Amino acid sequence: MNHDNSRELYDRALSVLPGGVNSAVRAAVEPYPFFVQKGDNGHVIDADGNRYVDWVMGLGPLLLGHNLPEPVQAGIQQKASEGPMYGTPTEVEVDLAEFVVRHVPSVEKIRFVNSGTEATTSAVRLARGYTGRNKIVVNQGGYHGAQESTLVEGDAENPKPSSAGIPQSFAEHTIPVPFNDEEAVRDVFEKHGDDVAAVLTEPILGNYGIVHPEDGYHEFLREITEEHGSLLVFDEVITGFRVGGLGCAQSEFDVTPDLTTFGKIIGGGFPVGAIGGRAEIIEQFAPSGPVFQAGTFSGHPVTMAAGLETLQFAAENDVYAHVDGLGDRLRDGLEDIVADQAPEYTVAGTASMFKVIFTRDGEAPTNAADVKNAETDRWRRIFWGQMKDRGIYLSQNQFECQFVSYGHTDEDVERTLEAYKEAL
Ligand SMILES: *Cc1c(COP(=O)(O)O)cnc(C)c1O
Repeated sequence: MNHDNSRELYDRALSVLPGGVNSAVRAAVEPYPFFVQKGDNGHVIDADGNRYVDWVMGLGPLLLGHNLPEPVQAGIQQKASEGPMYGTPTEVEVDLAEFVVRHVPSVEKIRFVNSGTEATTSAVRLARGYTGRNKIVVNQGGYHGAQESTLVEGDAENPKPSSAGIPQSFAEHTIPVPFNDEEAVRDVFEKHGDDVAAVLTEPILGNYGIVHPEDGYHEFLREITEEHGSLLVFDEVITGFRVGGLGCAQSEFDVTPDLTTFGKIIGGGFPVGAIGGRAEIIEQFAPSGPVFQAGTFSGHPVTMAAGLETLQFAAENDVYAHVDGLGDRLRDGLEDIVADQAPEYTVAGTASMFKVIFTRDGEAPTNAADVKNAETDRWRRIFWGQMKDRGIYLSQNQFECQFVSYGHTDEDVERTLEAYKEAL
């Protein structure tokens, strides 16, 4: 495989972009990432003309793959050709809001923003504004975007910023606990119960391997937050409209959060975020309430059209049956290969999410520490390149999720399983 054009582009990029990229994780590929020229259904073609089966799918937003079906294309192009945006409302944002309210059980009202990060930032501010409390409980290894309140590591006793540029005094309002650890949450509520504004959690950890909740974990979070007058916030930026179909992961787990953050799929491949939930809480946002929230691009007509047409297409076609079916075939095939060739590894995922985690003991991870202890260097430095050389594009490291799209085929699955067989 020739990568001359990608190397030259990266060389140019290093002169003008920090680390040569616009989002940190993209530089995880060494010695340099390949630059994409274009997509084609479930494939991407790089700057040197190499074709790959693409299981990254934009890191989550592309439910339908790279070739958007005709009504989705048409919706986007019409909005773009009428003029990009106005600074005053348009019908399509009401249409998308109504669609989400109709399908997601916990959402009575919704505010659209421009990224998942903006959604969680606003949700945290809203939870604090609504409850009049300061503290946010998060999960170690959970990811809620690049924002001050959640870029925190350590534990409940000793939270510290996980990035330079965040004051320690900010981090002190965030309490990280291990995923699936009810005892740790109980301890936090015993100590800080009357100052916990919210528990903010991903229904399934999707940015740190894939870690599934144990039975009853989310029900437990629902009960303990209710008991203490705190909010339960589900960050469904990855799982929203992917796990549990149009009802999102909360419908699959049958747990009703107070607030839900969305992103990724809800914008059909364009920059988006949203905060949905109980009307009484969402109405605390300005202008109906005292929690300030605003954005020049929020509810952008092109994004709203892309999101609405994508979700409508999914409602009217066999999208979830297709992606979940291929997800099952991938996971079943991978289970067989792993059992045969690397029994210490773990196949994780559900619906259209999948990942082989290079665990050392064959035990499915229950929290971030388990994933961290897996063979991260082997995944990234050896395995990723082996797959890429076989024309299979996987996420950049052991931690990012992989996604099936409507553009993928049985043949893509077969080729991918063959490649795993050779590379593992
Ligand atoms: C991707 C992601 C975010 C951040 O969204 P951006 O659009 O990248 O800002 C937040 N939470 C979760 C669960 C995510 O997967």
